[in-house]
Formats: sequence, C-alpha cells, structure tokens
Amino acid sequence: MFPDNRFPLAPALWHDTAVEPAATTPLGGRAETDTLIIGGGYAGLSTALHLAESGAQCMVLEAKEIGFGGSGRNGGQLVPGLKKDPSELIAAYGAERGGQMIEFAQATVSTVFSVIDRHKLNVPHTRNGWIQPAHSQTALSLVQKRLADWQKQGAPVRGLSRSELADLLGTDQYYGGWFDERGGSLQPLSYVRELARAALQAGALVHTDTAVQFIEKKGSGWHVTTSSGYVVQARRVVVCANAYSDGIWKNLKESVVDPNTYQVATAPLPDDIAKTVLPHGQPVSDTRNLLLYFRKDHTGRFMMGGRGPFREPRGKQDWDHLKKAITLLYPQLKDIAFEYYWCGRVSVTQDYMPHLHQPEPGLILNIGCQGRGIGLQTAMGKAIASYLQTGNEAALPVPFTPVQRLPFYGLRKLYVGALISWYRYLDSRT
Ligand SMILES: Cc1cc2nc3c(=O)[nH]c(=O)nc-3n(C[C@H](O)[C@H](O)[C@H](O)COP(=O)(O)OP(=O)(O)OC[C@H]3O[C@@H](n4cnc5c(N)ncnc54)[C@H](O)[C@@H]3O)c2cc1C
Repeated sequence: MFPDNRFPLAPALWHDTAVEPAATTPLGGRAETDTLIIGGGYAGLSTALHLAESGAQCMVLEAKEIGFGGSGRNGGQLVPGLKKDPSELIAAYGAERGGQMIEFAQATVSTVFSVIDRHKLNVPHTRNGWIQPAHSQTALSLVQKRLADWQKQGAPVRGLSRSELADLLGTDQYYGGWFDERGGSLQPLSYVRELARAALQAGALVHTDTAVQFIEKKGSGWHVTTSSGYVVQARRVVVCANAYSDGIWKNLKESVVDPNTYQVATAPLPDDIAKTVLPHGQPVSDTRNLLLYFRKDHTGRFMMGGRGPFREPRGKQDWDHLKKAITLLYPQLKDIAFEYYWCGRVSVTQDYMPHLHQPEPGLILNIGCQGRGIGLQTAMGKAIASYLQTGNEAALPVPFTPVQRLPFYGLRKLYVGALISWYRYLDSRT
C-alpha cells in the first residue's frame, strides 16, 4: 500500500483491495516436471491451470511474487479483442488465419469470465461492458469504422451519441463513442492470485521467489537453473515473462519496447460525488494515441492510467499529468485525495500483435500484450496448453515466428521519447 506521502520506486501492487495470496513457497531442491512455466502472471498461470486440468504435470516458477508483473499492476479493464480491428486482421493475415484470430479475439474476455465461474474465483468484477470515447472529431470517424467492423462480426456493440456518452461517463468532454457489451472490469491482483490458487488446486506446482537464470537444452529435455541454485529438468518449457523478460532468452526482451505505464487512484469517492462520475460503472479507455483509461473500482475509488516517463518514477510529480487529466474531465474531483501511485511495464511489439516463438522444439516463448493483456493472456495460456496437449498449431492465435531484436533497440528510450512527443502533438491537434 502506498499512502499519499510515498511513491513506489519499486512499483506498488494494488494490494489493499486484493484477496489473500495462495500459499506458495520457493523451490526447494532439484525437481523434474513435464512442463515448466516461467512467470506467475495471467499467461503462465492460465497455461498451468489448463494443463493441470487436463491431467498434465506442470510447474510454475515466479521470480518474485504472484502478479509481480503486469498482472498485479494493471488497470483491471477487460477489453475484448486485439489491438488490430477485424478488417486489419483479415487484410494482414488473409481470410482463414485472420478469421481464426478474430474468433480468438472475440473470446478473450469471455475466457476470463468462464475461468472465474468454473473455478468460483473470489475476484471483485463487473460484466457491464466497456466504453471507448472519441477525444476528437477525427477519432470519432475511426471509432465509427471500428464499430462497423465489429458489427459485421455480429459482436454485441453499439454506437454512442455525444449526449448518451455524457450520461454514461458523467463528463461531456468526448465527441461520441462506442459501447462493447463483452467488456467489464476486475480487481487485477485478486484475479492473478486466484488463478494461482486454482492452478494449485488443479494439481500444478507453483513456486514464488524463484528466478530462472539459465535455460539449457540437455538431451531430449531442458535444464533450468534458478537463482537459488536449484535445477529443474523439464521436457518442455514455456516462457511467460512478457515485459519482464530480462535476459531469459537471447533477444527476447529486445524484441519489444517495454515502456512504463502509470496509474493513480483516489480515496473512495463520497456518495454524492460518486454518483456523478461514471454513474453506470463501466470502465473507459479513450482514443488518444497516449490514451487515458479510467474506472471506479469496487471500493469506490476512481483510478486513471496513462503514459509517463519511460524510466522508473522519481517522485509523485511523475503522476501530475494524470491528476490534471482527472480534474479536467471531472472538476468535482479537484479536492479528492490521491492515495495510490504505481506503474508497471507493458510490452509493445512492432506489429502490435502478440508474438509466439519456438526457437527449438519444446521451448515456447510468449511475449507482447500492447497494454491489453488480461483477456489476451488468459486466453493465450489456454491456447498454449491446448497446443502442448495436442500439438495442433491451429490452436494458437498467431503462428510461431523467429525472435527478432528490434532495429536500434539500444536507442529505444530515445525513439519512444520522440514518439511520445509526436503523439502528444497529434492528440492536441486532432
Ligand atoms: C500499469 C499497467 C496497466 C495495465 N492496464 C491494463 C488493463 O486495464 N487491461 C488489460 O487488459 N491489460 C492491462 N495491462 C496489461 C496487462 O497487465 C498485461 O498484459 C498482463 O498482465 C501480462 O500478463 P503476463 O502473464 O503475460 O505477464 P506478467 O503479468 O508481466 O508476468 C510476468 C512474470 O514473469 C516473472 N518473471 C520474469 N522473469 C522471470 C524469471 N527469470 N524467472 C521467473 N519469473 C520471471 C515476473 O516477475 C512476472 O511476474 C496493463 C499493464 C500495466 C503495467
């Protein structure tokens, strides 16, 4: 918990409203497993849960605690789909592959809800849709195109006029938008902790405080050395470390840009103010290139996320732009106390698609969420488990590709900085 007079140099997890973690311990001793999964976030734990449910032996190793990565720090917005719209997927991958990707994209959020239901996970959540408002007239045309695209796919989506949107949001700052009934929100840290509990109950082993240092091919399997010196032998390894993939496999981290995204949360809003801000409770992410995303959580706090410095934060001033954005949208929040400040890394690929790699048989690398990973990585874990069980590559939403270091990776902070300035300029003009 980070009260108002502190800020997280090592970023905070959203602890105060999360359910208790499942009891996990560091790995103690040499071990063998069929499938070793690296990373205790949504992707790793969903892979483990689905494998264990089908009777397969598996083990998860997490360097820190469950949800230490994006899965414990995110904005809790359940946004259906991938970053690319259906027509873009068809144009890029053709009717058949693109069609499979659309099917996968359609089901990302419903996979989360079905895991919550099937395992009776104790996760505060809503299933009341998601809203994308347009911040400008130009953005409104893009939203209308996206809406038509999803309507063509039969998705339960509808357009929102400026006044309908103002009623739903409690602010008239946006030009119109669209409503996607498939969306919702959840307490992110509760969800990842409950996934761990469900995976353990299904028979997976889950060890925290155990960082993987080396993955080596030995005979027909893999030798995985951990920070404690213990070694795990596994027939197969799945890496789900996403934006936190430092040094695990050559060029993996260097295949994505991993900027920080920043969030603030207020104290619980008093009732008279709460009913004027997002009165119907939907989560919202707007159309800015440097998007703002916001919602009220189940304890009545208002939270907003958005861009921030690429580096780790130096002080509370690194969140000032978000506080300012909140009071521009909702002037009634100008005197509300801000109680939490935190941030975390997201992994952005060059083509804005999730990436799967299989550099050698029996080793799968999963990376790339573009800041939209609750549904995506839950569904990805399910797909990876299915592939491991059946060997059928069509179970995967994207084909395996080679790991490719980004050009000019060493200069990424500079070009992300330049891109942010450019996006800020575009957002102010359109
Ligand atoms: C601030 C923020 C806001 C976001 N908001 C949203 C949102 O509202 N909606 C949404 O859908 N998505 C959002 N996202 C994205 C989402 O959180 C991620 O896409 C998702 O959590 C990624 O899950 P994952 O399991 O792939 O990776 P992570 O959750 O990042 O898990 C990777 C894990 O691997 C572990 N690890 C790394 N190296 C090793 C090692 N060597 N050995 C063992 N373990 C290792 C890390 O400690 C980490 O716990 C947000 C992300 C951030 C940071």
